[in-house]
Amino acid sequence: MVNKKGEFMKKVVILFILCAGIMLAQDMVVRVYAPNWQDLEKISPKYDLDIAGARAGQYYDIVADQDVLSQIRSSGIPYEIIVFSIAHAAEQVRASYMSYSEMCDSLDAMIQSYPSICKLDSFPITTYQGNWIYGVKISDNVYIEEDDEPGFLIDGQHHANEWACMPTVLFFIDSILSSYGVVGSITDMINSTELYCFPVLNVDGYLYDYPGGNYWRKNREPFSGATGTDPNRNYAGCTEELEGEWGAVDNGKATHRPQSSIFSGAYVNSGDETRAMTLYAQDHFCNVYMTYHSSGEMLCWPWGWKYQQTPDSALYDHFGNNAADLVQRLGGGTYYRGTVSNIIYRVSGSSMDWFYAWSRYVNGVSNISFTTELGTSQYQSASNLDHMIHQNFKALEYLAGICDSVVLLVRTLVPPPTIYPLGTVG
Ligand SMILES: [Zn+2]
Repeated sequence: MVNKKGEFMKKVVILFILCAGIMLAQDMVVRVYAPNWQDLEKISPKYDLDIAGARAGQYYDIVADQDVLSQIRSSGIPYEIIVFSIAHAAEQVRASYMSYSEMCDSLDAMIQSYPSICKLDSFPITTYQGNWIYGVKISDNVYIEEDDEPGFLIDGQHHANEWACMPTVLFFIDSILSSYGVVGSITDMINSTELYCFPVLNVDGYLYDYPGGNYWRKNREPFSGATGTDPNRNYAGCTEELEGEWGAVDNGKATHRPQSSIFSGAYVNSGDETRAMTLYAQDHFCNVYMTYHSSGEMLCWPWGWKYQQTPDSALYDHFGNNAADLVQRLGGGTYYRGTVSNIIYRVSGSSMDWFYAWSRYVNGVSNISFTTELGTSQYQSASNLDHMIHQNFKALEYLAGICDSVVLLVRTLVPPPTIYPLGTVG
């Protein structure tokens, strides 16, 4: 009897050691209460940390193994572990999210169900691994680019491990399609707006991250012995101010270190996803742009690259605050809001800054651009998803309704381009 009990306890101890070993070997997310990015140099003098999220003046979420956790402890900066095992977190929620091919099937089903107002769309070039970035266009006369209707481009998941983006965009697509002819305001929206919806931009990254839960953020293109460019550090600046250009790394905006999760890429638009987006935008009038990321429960606007306001700051404050007021956080209260530089951190090469600046200074199309940081975690718990997608639907519905106002109110510095209908230019 004693022997059996002793044997049992031995097994329990071995199991405990094994489990502890597995937990210790896995990456975690640690929230570090550092008000400034310079404080992070106390943890890593070269600032080569993998930052998963931030709220300006309050905290940074850092992806950490045991070594980084030790560095955090030694820095003396207050911290808490908010995700003990990233891999376990992904494993727990994966079944609640679609794979990329399941998403394509879902889009296909919607196109089949609503062929008069929804058509398959894709960016004009493939990714590094040869995948198409699929989405849908939704409008009346959907096969015609109607220049007299304003355009609204919505994308998700520049960053592969920000899984809540895809269901948020899909829910919007599905909801407005099924409301057409049923809900007057949605019918009007579809009849009077060209809606371009791309739930997953970083397809290669997602194809890698979804099955493995690898906490992979970048695309999958190799460069200089490392893998991946951060697509949201790879866009042009277009303001003619150096600190706003691609590749500006002051204030931790980006880095040229290929191993980093915020590597800005070999050169501007080197990422196929970035180039695909810029090519697509050239062929469409996009007056409002919303790009989904995760996490932080924030709705933000330009600039990301500097603290100063844009020439359209009054409009951004008005429309941005109205949109954010509609979106409830998981714990109550509405989404945090403001410019990316002021409420998250400074960043160069983002799609939001590019879309707004390029439209205003280069392309001559009235545009305002937003970023939403969804939810509270990259691998958001499935039990939170329903709340999040319904809440964010309200902001998208509101922003679709302001496209006309943007055309009237937002001035550009150059005249608008002529976009010829497909097949009419020899
Ligand atoms: Zn992101």
